[in-house]
Amino acid sequence: MGKIYIVDVTNRDGVQTAKLGLSKLEKTMINIYLNEMGVFQSEFGFPTTKHESNYLQANLELTETGVLQPIRLGGWIRATAEDVETSFKLVPKIKHLNLSVSTSDQMIQGKFQGRKTKDDIVQMMVDAVDAARSHRAESIGVNAEDASRTDLDFLIKFASAAKSHGADRFRYCDTLGYDDPFTIYETVKALAKNVAMPIEIHCHGDLGMAVATSIAGAKGSIDGGQDAYINTTVNGIGERAGNADLVATVLAITKSKGFTKKYQLGKPIDLSKSWKIANFASYAFGVPIPINQPGVGANAFAHASGIHADGVLKDPQNYELYDYAELGRGEAVTVETGREICSGEYGGISGFRHLMKKIEEKIGGRTEEELGDMVEISFANAEEAEKILELVRYANVCAQKPLVEDELLFIAKYPDIARKLLTLTPLT
Ligand SMILES: [Zn+2]
Repeated sequence: MGKIYIVDVTNRDGVQTAKLGLSKLEKTMINIYLNEMGVFQSEFGFPTTKHESNYLQANLELTETGVLQPIRLGGWIRATAEDVETSFKLVPKIKHLNLSVSTSDQMIQGKFQGRKTKDDIVQMMVDAVDAARSHRAESIGVNAEDASRTDLDFLIKFASAAKSHGADRFRYCDTLGYDDPFTIYETVKALAKNVAMPIEIHCHGDLGMAVATSIAGAKGSIDGGQDAYINTTVNGIGERAGNADLVATVLAITKSKGFTKKYQLGKPIDLSKSWKIANFASYAFGVPIPINQPGVGANAFAHASGIHADGVLKDPQNYELYDYAELGRGEAVTVETGREICSGEYGGISGFRHLMKKIEEKIGGRTEEELGDMVEISFANAEEAEKILELVRYANVCAQKPLVEDELLFIAKYPDIARKLLTLTPLT
């Protein structure tokens, strides 16, 4: 029986959301947290976009050195041979690509204005797949944008052509959130049966169903005999009403009535990192987590009414489907209410030393296991501390808000990578 894999697209769909964005260091932290969670792939950015090049290459270096392992890092581009060539020129070590083109009559007509037929679209896409193959891409996904408004026959033709040219997965994009769980189940099942290749489900929340349509689509792919891949974003941040939320999707797969023990993840997800990644993304995007957000919202485990409070105190399972500790909740959070020293783009050495000492004190008493990816910070000399501080200043210029502890630790641990992430060179 097929399995479900998570492909998180926060660093692609999430960052292309209107009014929102992430610094390259913040994108890197998202990749690190996704890797810690056990997410199969991060769609980490745009290989044809010049200001992404250093970030993408730095993250691929982290893959090579084992820091970003085993997560796959995949780039998103338009399905044209030209974009494939540009990608390999700007980011030569890119290994995983998703090639995207619109397939619905509405978009082919509405975007190309009569300049492209459906056959042209298929040709353009297979040329792109061929180009990616010739550059030895390790995996190629082909995306049908607006698939939910595309004729099934054309989708089958399109996906079959992609498969015959060596694509590994077909991404069914419910770009406008038009599907419901019943329609997407039927369509994806028919695609899986007729095309016989793994199907990726990309859903949006314009009708409030992104998680529901995602898992229904995955069920369709598995019932049709294929593995399923679900696209998620942290906190559901994405174009317009957003994408399927990562934590909610994993909860739906692992805890819901019809999925538990039947439709399973191909790779276990460590939900205990949920609290950390959700709160980091919230801070980095500057978007609060809704109070009623599944799993990580402030009210997800709050009870007030007499009957509920009494019931949950007697046995939490009376009113809670899963335990808060599973999501990494329950630890007290310290909020500074007095004097605070923050990192900043005009910061100096004594403030920086104070910050690092505070982190050191915090992680000082911890065991190796508790420390995880964190390092003890000790600078060889004043010169080295000054060098790290300089990078911290630059990181602050990009983030325009104080860095979190994990970001400071990252810069201290990987200064050369940080330098690359912070290098933007528009004048070439
Ligand atoms: Zn999208």
